[in-house]
Amino acid sequence: MVRDARAGAPLVILGAGYAGLSVAEEVRRRSRGAIPVTLVDRHPVHVLRTELYQLGEIASAGGDLARWLVPLAKVFDRSSVTVREGTVDAIDLAGGSVRVDGTSLPFGDLAICLGNVASYYGVPGAAENTSSVYRLSAAQRTAAAVREIERASPGLPGEQRPRIVVVGGGSTGTELAAEIATTDWASILGQPVRPPDVFLLTGSLPFLAGFPERVIDLARQALRRAGVTIIPALNVERVEPHRVHLTDGTVLACDLAIWCAGLEAPGLVRGLAVPHGRGGRISVGPTLEVPGPPGIFAVGDVIELRDPETGVLVPSTAQAAMSEARTAARNVVARRAGRPLEPYRYREHGILVALGVRRAAGRVGPLTLWGNPARFLKRVVEREYARSAGRGEPSRLL
Ligand SMILES: Cc1cc2nc3c(=O)[nH]c(=O)nc-3n(C[C@H](O)[C@H](O)[C@H](O)COP(=O)(O)OP(=O)(O)OC[C@H]3O[C@@H](n4cnc5c(N)ncnc54)[C@H](O)[C@@H]3O)c2cc1C
Repeated sequence: MVRDARAGAPLVILGAGYAGLSVAEEVRRRSRGAIPVTLVDRHPVHVLRTELYQLGEIASAGGDLARWLVPLAKVFDRSSVTVREGTVDAIDLAGGSVRVDGTSLPFGDLAICLGNVASYYGVPGAAENTSSVYRLSAAQRTAAAVREIERASPGLPGEQRPRIVVVGGGSTGTELAAEIATTDWASILGQPVRPPDVFLLTGSLPFLAGFPERVIDLARQALRRAGVTIIPALNVERVEPHRVHLTDGTVLACDLAIWCAGLEAPGLVRGLAVPHGRGGRISVGPTLEVPGPPGIFAVGDVIELRDPETGVLVPSTAQAAMSEARTAARNVVARRAGRPLEPYRYREHGILVALGVRRAAGRVGPLTLWGNPARFLKRVVEREYARSAGRGEPSRLL
């Protein structure tokens, strides 16, 4: 069957994360509602995933997680975007349809924005014996686990500190380790507690790989001050309940291990007959089209793309996902109008990493920011993004 985007079939967007939500917002705005859009996600909400490192706040929220969620029905109320809640279980690229909860949904154009899932690199016991913060439900469980560990450690004389091991020295692991170490668990629990000893394992990758040197130095200092011990250059060999085994034979006993060591494309994407890059990500062309039938785009963490000018891999960040989404949206509109498609160019606005409840570091343009001002800016960016996403306005922040 040959697909024809002009036969009235909608642009179907799979996934309502930073990529999918931004594609929907931009296509609606640019086509002034002329292109019908169906946005599919397994949840009726957009999750503010970049804020899931805030474990202390999630632990204090008492199950009310509205602050980390943007309801999709409210964003696209009375617009050309139809929100469909359901799980995508098959994608037929050549046939021009996807299956959502067992029902076929034909598409004119398609945007695959399904994000990624934790990658355990075949490390025995890692999936079973670690928690994570990659999804809101996982972050909620992890926050509850840390809270419980602290509650059971009431700060009696002679008692050992609880120990938490964070695996992965990228920005997620770093933000999480700093947040756990600097959260005032005593005030959250209303009782004296012994704060946790936090270990951050960077594995074979350098600490905060890809960040500017000065920011890395500032982050190291902040973690040291927060009491986080960084263990570099050792991979995890296997994980047992409450024990993390390292490749040099060291065994770290712990109350909780949290896996922030990496991500890969979801199984559904890995199984597609398209070119794949690292972790099964889709290797897209310069216009963000998937090689194969025209009109199929992929955006966000699900793709692998090298900037054609620098040859550098575009990072898997919300910032990149949203800027890719703007190009993909312009290309969907151009394709339907019979105009040529434009290539994607990655430009980083800045980079910020939270380093505990009152600290952050980063670079914006030529400026290195640090401490309270950096943390303030990070909060402003996060809140501004949440506000614009909730109003259905494209955001250039994060
Ligand atoms: C703790 C943490 C902090 C971060 N901080 C930053 C930061 O400060 N700045 C930054 O730029 N980036 C940050 N990131 C990275 C950023 O969150 C990701 O790059 C971003 O979420 C990618 O957007 P996406 O739309 O590609 O994927 P996602 O946001 O993961 O969205 C994917 C969507 O697809 C849906 N989905 C998946 N499979 C299916 C299916 N089969 N059926 C239906 N729906 C499905 C999911 O429900 C989800 O809504 C952080 C990440 C984490 C975990």
